[in-house]
Order: sequence, then C-alpha cells, then structure tokens
Amino acid sequence: MTIRRLDAETVDRIAAGEVVTRPARVVAELVENSLDAGADDVAIEVDGDGTDRIRVVDDGRGMDAEMAELAVERHTTSKLPEGDLTGVETLGFRGEALASVAEVATLEVTTNDGGPRGTRVVVEDGETDVAPAGRAEGTTVEVRDLFHNRRARRDSLASPKAEFARISGLVSRYALVRPSVRFRLHHDGREVFATPGSGDYADALLGVYDRQVASRSTELDAETGVDDRSVAIRGALCYPSITRSTRDHVYVAVNGRPLTDERLRRAVVAGYGSLLPSGRAPVAVVDVSLPSGAVDPNVHPAKERVAVRAADAVESAVERAVADALSTADLRRSAEVSMDLDSTLSPLETDSVFDDATVVGQFRGLYLLCAADDGLLVVDQHAAHERVNYERLRAAVDEASVPSATLDPPETVSLSPAAAAAAEAHRETLRRLGFDVAAFGGNTYRLRSVPAPLGRVADVDAFREALAALRSGEDPDGRRDELLADLACHPSLKAGDDLTTDEASALLDRLGQCDQPFACPHGRPTVLEIEEQALARGFEREATRFG
Ligand code: ADP
Ligand code: MG
Repeated sequence: MTIRRLDAETVDRIAAGEVVTRPARVVAELVENSLDAGADDVAIEVDGDGTDRIRVVDDGRGMDAEMAELAVERHTTSKLPEGDLTGVETLGFRGEALASVAEVATLEVTTNDGGPRGTRVVVEDGETDVAPAGRAEGTTVEVRDLFHNRRARRDSLASPKAEFARISGLVSRYALVRPSVRFRLHHDGREVFATPGSGDYADALLGVYDRQVASRSTELDAETGVDDRSVAIRGALCYPSITRSTRDHVYVAVNGRPLTDERLRRAVVAGYGSLLPSGRAPVAVVDVSLPSGAVDPNVHPAKERVAVRAADAVESAVERAVADALSTADLRRSAEVSMDLDSTLSPLETDSVFDDATVVGQFRGLYLLCAADDGLLVVDQHAAHERVNYERLRAAVDEASVPSATLDPPETVSLSPAAAAAAEAHRETLRRLGFDVAAFGGNTYRLRSVPAPLGRVADVDAFREALAALRSGEDPDGRRDELLADLACHPSLKAGDDLTTDEASALLDRLGQCDQPFACPHGRPTVLEIEEQALARGFEREATRFG
C-alpha cells in the first residue's frame, strides 16, 4: 500500500467542503481511517467537548515512516490508486482529513505497519516533526487543542454535553453498522459503551443500547436483485414493542457507511407497516450492500449521503426485506409480571405461530388464556379479531379497487366549499376507495355508494375521514389501509363477549395464520407472553437455575 498525491484534476472533482467543523467531524474522520485500515478494534477517547483531546487507537495495518509523513499532507491518500473516484470502496478517498485537522489542532500520529519499530509524526503550528517510536502494529491518532487558532469556531460550539452527545451518537452509528469491529468509547476516562466485535448485530445493539432492546430484535439477512445487480440487506430489527418518537434510532448504511438518508430510513419504517403504533418509529439497523459501481460516495462534503443508482428500486427492496423479516419473526410480547423478565424470544419455525398453544380459558370476557410451550399466552380477543378481520379484508380487496355497496336512497352530505372542491379533485381516488359521490346543488353532495368489502359497510363518517385524509395530502394507499383497519375494528369482538372454547380456538388459529399476528391493525399488541421461567421465579421454584 502506498500513499500518493492526487493530481489537480482529481482534486477538482472532489466534493470539497470544510472538513473539520466540530469535534464530532474529527472523530468521524479518524474512525473512518481506522476502519479503512482494516482495524478489528477501535478505541475512542474524548476529553470534555473534544477540543481538549480526542484519541483514536486502532489495530489496523498502520503506516511506515515514509507513508506517515506523507499522510498528514493535503490531498495525499492511499485509497485512490488510479485516481479514480468511481468504484471507491473505502470510507475515505479525499486525502485531506489529517491535513485539515493539523491546520486547526496539534496532531500526533503514532503508527507501525508491522515493522521492527514505529514512527511518530507530530504537526504543531505548521511544523512537522518525524521520529521513531515504539508501537505495535496499528495507529494511534491524538488531536489536542482543537480550534486553538479558530476562535469563531470554538465559540460556535454547543455545550460540552451536547458536543459529546454528537460524538457518542456518531460512534454508535459506526458501531452498529460494523458489528464485526470492536468499538469502545470513553469520555473523561469513563467507558460510555463498548461492543464486542462478534459480527452479530444483536451484540452491537446490546453494547450501544441495553438487554431489553437487544433481546427483542430479529436478524435481517436478505439477498435480492435490483436490475441485474445483487443487493444484500443485513442488520437487526427491534420488535415493534420497542419504539421511539423519532426516526433517529433507525440506522441506515450503504456498504458499511452510515448515512443520514431520510429516504432509506423511511423505507425501513414502511417495512414495519401496521405493526407500529401510529406516530412511533422503530429501533433498527440496516446496511445495504451494493456493487461499488452502483454507488457514488462523492456527493456530500461530510460523506453523509451517497448517490445510489436505481434508488427507488433499492428502497422498495429494503422495505420488502424488512416486512418479510418481521412477518417470520415471533413478535409476541413479554408481559411485565412483578419481576424483571430476563426474556429472550426465540423464533418459532411453524406455519401457524400458535400451533403449540391451547386455549385454557377466558378472563373477564376480554382475554384468552392459552398454554404454550414456554409459558402462558394472553391474547386480547378484540385486538386479535381486528387483525384477523383486517387481513381478510385486505385479501378481499384487489390492488385496484375496493368493492362497494350502493346506498339506496343515497346519503346526502353537506360539505364546506373547500371540502367540496377536494371531493371534485379527488373524485377518481375516492372511487377507487369505494366512494361514489356526486354534486347535488349548492354545497350538498350525494353519496351513492360506499366501500363494503366482505359485507362490512362504511358510513358517511368514513367518507368524511377519507376526504380529510386526502386533503391533508395523505397517500391513497395508506388511506385505504386505514379504512380497512377501521372497518376491521367495527364489527370485531367487544369487551365482555363470551366465547366458547371452540370459538376461542378458532380465533387463535386464525390469528396464528395471519401475516402479522402480533399487532392489531392500529399497531397495538395482540398477544402477551408470560414465560414459564417468570412464574417459576415468582414462585421461587428453581431459584438456582434462574437466580
Ligand atoms: P483519506 O482517508 O481520504 O485517504 P486522510 O487524510 O484521512 O485521507 O488520510 C490520509 C492517508 O493516511 C490515508 O489514505 C491512509 O493511507 C493513511 N492513514 C490515515 N489514518 C490511518 C490509520 N488509522 N491507519 C492506517 N493508515 C492511515
Ligand atoms: Mg480519511
């Protein structure tokens, strides 16, 4: 591996921007260099807000003395052997990070490429000093007094807490999308988090989050084709029982490069579909591997976005992969009994996910109690029935239109002028949803037919809701799903409905055959599981085994 200086033409093609805008950018560039050097272990130490000291220690390939001296100069890189920007597979390629850092801080690089001795290069106030130094193979980069000569930059930084939060968030992104690398983050001498580098996404989640998040996740590992390129989609999806109010916990990456790509994030969330309660976002890690020629990483100064060929098709592939992985995952939730459940949810391999369960009773006309292999399932019969109805309705509704029922006589609806205009503008969409509406003079309209899949007949309120949703710009397919969800709810079992054991078993069977048995169409859970272990622990049986 050699480092060369980029020619002027290549430099011109680089999407330049100020590299070092805040401490977190320094951390990102140093971590990327460690990953590009093939490190299996990356330790990051930060003091204060990062301007005091940032240190990144890796066990990567390292550099010999000559390389190390060149590396701190501008536009020198080992990563573009042909000066060719297409097909870059490394995280770095611009050859300016170390030089930019050296301009605004004291930079000390101690490195060894596996030779008998290492090298230390110190750049301070424009002076470069190179000396031999002891170090095992790998590289340590220390950045001190960041922005000491950039008053304005320094003054524009947020509080130390906020700057460190950015750093911590950023290191989490790399740690989660590179689970085979061991990451450790220290702040003011204290460990903030560490991942084991096992290659397992759940282990990385355990390091960055906690046991609850890690144990309630399923692996994503899909291989598919887009055009004639192969696409691998890997990661971990937390069950919808774990949600957040923003999409910040949806980590997306392309070829192991973490990105802040809203479209990819949206595709991941869309894959969860109706499993998520409305307004909530999941915790998920999704890395999309594409042939390097299909990705241009040179479109954003901080490399937080890339250009992907056939991005729409890639996004649909991601959405499908997420939906498929969740439809085979066992998403039954653990009920919180009066003790901490150290629960792991092991996936089932059967077709009906409740094959192993038998109804043993009903509680308060609300819940079915079922004996399952590992414990007691508590099924919310209303939520379960809604899910079953919803999937039946969806199956009955073809892609293009919803079956409708004629209202005879038609219902008269009076609409505000704006709503009337919307009803005209969206007439075709409304028709596809099953609503046929015609002007009747003034602001009065006649509703001649309404959606009626499987005999469930919508009403005037459903029409007003659909119209309001279309006016607010909601996508018609989403509206159709909502409509079906509401229709599914309408005639579902209510609280206090007694079921015979046969009816209860049939409901459980049907639920088990659903694509998404673990949530009602509005995203609430259908099944809670109380593990036998939890009962054993509660009753202090087998204390040695579980205690
Ligand atoms: P770039 O990463 O775009 O090449 P940098 O300024 O970040 O530019 O680094 C310049 C060069 O220094 C890299 O191409 C690489 O050869 C070398 N280098 C930097 N950091 C490391 C590291 N941690 N381990 C090994 N080599 C490194
Ligand atoms: Mg770099």
